[in-house]
Amino acid sequence: MPRSAPKHRPAAPTTRRHCPPEKSRQARRALATNSAAWRKLRAVVLAAEPLCRWCRSKGVIRAASCVDHVNGDATNNDLTNLQPLCSPCHSRKTAKEDGGFGNQKRTGQ
Ligand SMILES: [Zn+2]
Repeated sequence: MPRSAPKHRPAAPTTRRHCPPEKSRQARRALATNSAAWRKLRAVVLAAEPLCRWCRSKGVIRAASCVDHVNGDATNNDLTNLQPLCSPCHSRKTAKEDGGFGNQKRTGQ
């Protein structure tokens, strides 16, 4: 039997030690992924090319679910810099270009 009523403990503030807000991937983008403008642009790219470009180049037919920046520059939303990819291909490319899981790319190793 508890000795006293449970005390309210507010949740600890969420801190992202490895990814400060000013340097987060979302902050470096020209359009946030949850913005109406990005969702519209994403829909245009996926409607024009609904299959994953990387899988298609290997002869595999797979629906694209992500819109990727070809050169990795998230501030350049020109249609020539956007390509449709499936989630596994996008994750593979992102992990190769970034440090993986949204981390900064490691240098000097
Ligand atoms: Zn793919």
